[in-house]
Amino acid sequence: MHRPSRSRLATATALLAAVAVTVSAGAGATDTAHQARNAVQGGKARNVILLIGDGMGDSEITLARDYTVGAGGRLNMDRFPLTGAYTTYAVHADGTPDYVTDSAAGGTGWATGVKTVNGRISKTPGTDKAVPTVLELAQKNGYATGSVTTAELTDATPAVLASHATDRSCQGPADMAKCPADTIAAGGPGSIAEQSVSHKVDVLFGGGRQRFEQKVTDGRYKGLTVTDQARRLGYQVVTDDASMKAAKPGRPVLGLFAGGNVPVEWTGRAAAVGGTDPQRCVTSNPGRPSGTPSLADSATKAIQLLEAKQKHARNGFFLQIEGASIDKQDHSADPCGQIGETAAFDRAVKVARDYAAKHPDTLVVTTADHGHTSQIVPLEATPPGLSSTLVTDEGRRLKVNYSTNTPGRSQEHTGTEVRIAAQGPLAYRVLGVTDQTDLFTTLREALRLR
Ligand code: MG
Ligand code: ZN
Repeated sequence: MHRPSRSRLATATALLAAVAVTVSAGAGATDTAHQARNAVQGGKARNVILLIGDGMGDSEITLARDYTVGAGGRLNMDRFPLTGAYTTYAVHADGTPDYVTDSAAGGTGWATGVKTVNGRISKTPGTDKAVPTVLELAQKNGYATGSVTTAELTDATPAVLASHATDRSCQGPADMAKCPADTIAAGGPGSIAEQSVSHKVDVLFGGGRQRFEQKVTDGRYKGLTVTDQARRLGYQVVTDDASMKAAKPGRPVLGLFAGGNVPVEWTGRAAAVGGTDPQRCVTSNPGRPSGTPSLADSATKAIQLLEAKQKHARNGFFLQIEGASIDKQDHSADPCGQIGETAAFDRAVKVARDYAAKHPDTLVVTTADHGHTSQIVPLEATPPGLSSTLVTDEGRRLKVNYSTNTPGRSQEHTGTEVRIAAQGPLAYRVLGVTDQTDLFTTLREALRLR
């Protein structure tokens, strides 16, 4: 543990007084106050674990809570001692606000501290210039780094950490149409897949194998697949739960667990115009191969590998863990798919919190990149769009409405602020109402990145 500076301690003490007031009522107040006291101590984090629920606004959290643990229950992500809210808007090329962000601009916000245009990956809004990311800075400062997702590893959220691209669609060497300046032929860094492995991130776990099977078109790896490029760069490549768990520290690990997005855990009927018959979700998916690792198991392995690498190092690791398909199932108005992914994400939150319980010099932050569609409405409501009635685990009916777009079209992100919750060194920085870009500063200061 590092000793906090005098001024930091004074700040922490003042904050503690405020925190103690806010947590003084309700069940578990003593526990929470104790956790809060710990949370405001310590100025430097050895490790950061950042968990992003894509599209996980308050309504998505509440829906998963109501269904799985009941209205009066609490998810793991509800148990952080310190909670705030942050604003998520993107900007237009001229810097004026674009009130609804996508994951690319939102991710650029938390990963670089700079707001950008929708679709852009860690580059500026008008001038399209690369901006350093928290992962790049962590690498420069001697931290091990990792990124774990249920999306393609080249999807926007993981992309913002280890690549810079004019457009989020430039995922593999064959996908570069919207990024002419980023191609290797034009002197750029190449596709998101190529950049992710050339960054030598220590742990990359997710889907998107099809992007990595594309052939590099120019430069030193021309003619090789990106997976072969990764092997040349020293990566071990793993493809399922067993090979992931067998990976040994000492070399970086690229885990590609699906051709596209990792298949979701739960299935059910999608919301429909006029609603659905009351349904129970199916807590399995026949389309999910049995060797597919869970997000929690991927997170556990990532932490083991990163910790092993840093065993004798002064600094620890930076790890991002994304529950990506909360967003994707929300777009599809599929409540069971969405709840199952939120529950799977919540189990990864538990992995992070269990690690931090033994390593209190770990800053754990759970947040979202933007809000989304699903809203819990009264049973007697008759929404004009898509809706579904669910029977929760506590045996009650719940109606969920998806109406941010015309039925048949992809449901949309929303411009709402979202929850940010944390524990560990500098966790108090999430209190109040902050902006998505402030998270970058919190992470940078917690790890003392220069
Ligand atoms: Mg995402
Ligand atoms: Zn989305």
